[in-house]
Amino acid sequence: MRYVSTRGAAPDLDFADVLLAGLARDGGLYVPDTWPTIAPDALRRFAGLPYADVATEIMWPFVEGSIDRELFGTIVAESYATFDHPDVTPLRDLGGGVHLLELFHGPTLAFKDLALQLVGRLFDHELTHRSSTVTIVGATSGDTGSAAIEACRDRDTVEIFILHPFGRVSDVQRRQMTTVLSANVHNIAVEGTFDDCQDLVKLLFADEMFRDRVRLSAVNSINWARVMAQIVYYAVASSRLGGGLGQPVAFSVPTGNFGNVFAGYGAQRMGVPISQYIVGSNRNDILTRFLATGLMRTEGVEPSLSPSMDIQVSSNFERLLFEITGRSGATVSERMLAFRSDGELALGGEHHALLQEQWSGARIDDEQTLTVIREVYERTGELVDPHTAVGLAAGEQCRRDPTIPLVSLATAHPAKFPDAVEKATGVRPGLPARLHDLFTREERFVVLPNDLAAVRDYIDTHRR
Ligand SMILES: *Cc1c(COP(=O)(O)O)cnc(C)c1O
Repeated sequence: MRYVSTRGAAPDLDFADVLLAGLARDGGLYVPDTWPTIAPDALRRFAGLPYADVATEIMWPFVEGSIDRELFGTIVAESYATFDHPDVTPLRDLGGGVHLLELFHGPTLAFKDLALQLVGRLFDHELTHRSSTVTIVGATSGDTGSAAIEACRDRDTVEIFILHPFGRVSDVQRRQMTTVLSANVHNIAVEGTFDDCQDLVKLLFADEMFRDRVRLSAVNSINWARVMAQIVYYAVASSRLGGGLGQPVAFSVPTGNFGNVFAGYGAQRMGVPISQYIVGSNRNDILTRFLATGLMRTEGVEPSLSPSMDIQVSSNFERLLFEITGRSGATVSERMLAFRSDGELALGGEHHALLQEQWSGARIDDEQTLTVIREVYERTGELVDPHTAVGLAAGEQCRRDPTIPLVSLATAHPAKFPDAVEKATGVRPGLPARLHDLFTREERFVVLPNDLAAVRDYIDTHRR
């Protein structure tokens, strides 16, 4: 498989190069040059197969030419063996044709493990093959950091430094990162906000000498391999709900950077019957405003009960823009440059109408989020986390056809956000068995000032 940039001005690459490159050189995002297809009989067959087998089959055309098939199957199997549910992504029937797709059974209790457990192993494989190493630096407001650390721990090819805002992430989130004592894992608590952490990372990437010296890399959500891994569970959910017999499904997805829901779009392009995409936002509702009006305009970010969706810009939207403009790199490039300079992106009537055929969105505020958590608990006995609740509420508001099953994505385990869940229900969700001793484990992190030189020096002196 070859990959092309959404801005049309970077060289085509194969999977292994796209994996390590992340962003394309023209500032665009890589997408496959054609969408492979899943035949209806394959979708029927998937309903009875283990998750890892389905995943290997679906992803194979995307990686073919870069890795040996048997080895790829082994890597995929190892990635999903870290999940503590035999189905990996179980479906739970909530009644009324609504199903929860539980994506939180991985090591760090959020859906990011589905992609990062695989991406960490693929990085390691490719770097070993090239006799190379990288230094991964990332900023986190919570979920990404722990998932990336779990994916990279104890790998000889990777040194990972994660910046989090000192005192501003939850205790569960911090401990999931800081109790990993592996020699290649470095947690930096920055005396500042999440935005400060992100700015520091951007400055480190802009420092060419530093970038080359440490072979700087990232595993952020624009990496194609993450999207690829996420396509799998849309096909798995569909196969279990009759997709192989042509039964369509609607998906509701609590959305931040748009990586997760774009994977659903990819599944549809491959042949999975999907009738509707519902994008759930919290008060940071750039996407839902955009879907309603066709005009994307940034505003400041405000904290909410679903912090992993507190975003200003949804980077992966560029991939959908590329598809709905008929894969025109020139159009995407022009729109994205205008967006960068004016903070505004206008879609144009025709493309907006095209988008609205299948896409809708709802903004769910904190109060509605708590109400939904309480309602679901009272009706079904299930505790859902605030991100999941945003998806459920948006699904209820935007669902067009009640005869079509609605799958709402459960992106985090309730124990990751125990305060909100307790506030809504009076019940404090407990951590799963694998993390029962999280609060007595030893922590290790360094506190640094919000200062580029301090962070750079720390990385220079602490990587092996
Ligand atoms: C990252 C995250 C999201 C947002 O996903 P995107 O792919 O960025 O749209 C939603 N919920 C949880 C719990 C997350 O960790």
